Amino acid sequence: MGSELGLSLDIHQQRRARLGAKLERLRLKYFVVTSLRNIFYLTGFRGSAGIAVVGGGETTLWVDPRYTLQAKQDAPGIEVIEVKSGLLKAVARRLRKAKARRAGFEGDHLTCSQLRALEHEGHGKFRLQPASGLVERLRVIKDAAEIDAIRQAARVTVAAFEESLPLVKPGARECDLAAEIEYRMRRHGAEGAAFETIVASGLRAAYPHARASDKALAHGELVIFDLGAILSGYAADMTRTVFLGKPSHRLANLYQAVLAAQRRAVGALRPGTRCCDVDAAARRSLKRRGLEKYFTHSTGHGVGLDIHEKPRLARTEKTRLKADSVVTAEPGVYLEGLGGIRLEDTVLVGEHRPEVLTPASMEHWILS
Ligand code: ZN
Ligand code: ZN
Repeated sequence: MGSELGLSLDIHQQRRARLGAKLERLRLKYFVVTSLRNIFYLTGFRGSAGIAVVGGGETTLWVDPRYTLQAKQDAPGIEVIEVKSGLLKAVARRLRKAKARRAGFEGDHLTCSQLRALEHEGHGKFRLQPASGLVERLRVIKDAAEIDAIRQAARVTVAAFEESLPLVKPGARECDLAAEIEYRMRRHGAEGAAFETIVASGLRAAYPHARASDKALAHGELVIFDLGAILSGYAADMTRTVFLGKPSHRLANLYQAVLAAQRRAVGALRPGTRCCDVDAAARRSLKRRGLEKYFTHSTGHGVGLDIHEKPRLARTEKTRLKADSVVTAEPGVYLEGLGGIRLEDTVLVGEHRPEVLTPASMEHWILS
């Protein structure tokens, strides 16, 4: 077995080789990568600025002086060029010299003014062609190191939630609980929260993306927690809903309905299944109980370097699930005047069966 360095070098080389095969099919000799997440994925360099060009049998990374040393360390085997100012200008110069003629760029990650600057500096020597989602599509299938990172992020997410649960009682403020959760994520080795932790109680729980406010929890309220740690650059995503007190019959039924829909969605996460069919499985389950109209968002999304990435588990998404993808299953119902219930897991789409990476209890939801 190689050293850690050797291993990571292999992984990034493999990813670039997969991208190279895609570029060949598109007859693009060069590809300008401006998404920092995609640069991290392809090279291992994780900074706040930089541009990479893949093609011509090599990969080059342009960074400013703040990042020269780090880039050389993070991205071994890659040519790192330090540029004091004007990264795009330097990239254009290289493409001109290489007689690139045609180069692809990330349509989703280059601003209009950056594109204009790149074209301007090209002096008409090469044509730029948008190619969106190339690296994002590669990122759908996670390699072993990525699955391991997400697994760890998920474990930290569960631990932070379970340790904070004893503090969830009437009088506790939403923002304090969110802070407690994020503190515990860090204590468990996370870089932080992958997104702003949501704690939404009472009527506020009816807003699917409410932020944690200074509202105090009260007896007789639903509380939604939506949280996820980030570790080694990879995120996890989990939602739990609890009730403070003794829930009414109606509320208990609603909760069981969402729980059933969530289990349906998780059960449908098999390689080869169309994403829209996973969404339909959750929706059908709620429809049987007349609750479909209260489920106002899609069933899930991919998780990885981004908290929301491909594939979307939505009504219109016809792509098929692939083994070794990581996605969420998160049906919810939101009723004005009552609050909301959402249950979400991060799930690994295994070759043979789905594996829930965030197994915090959903049965233990009544806190009295
Ligand atoms: Zn979430
Ligand atoms: Zn989510």
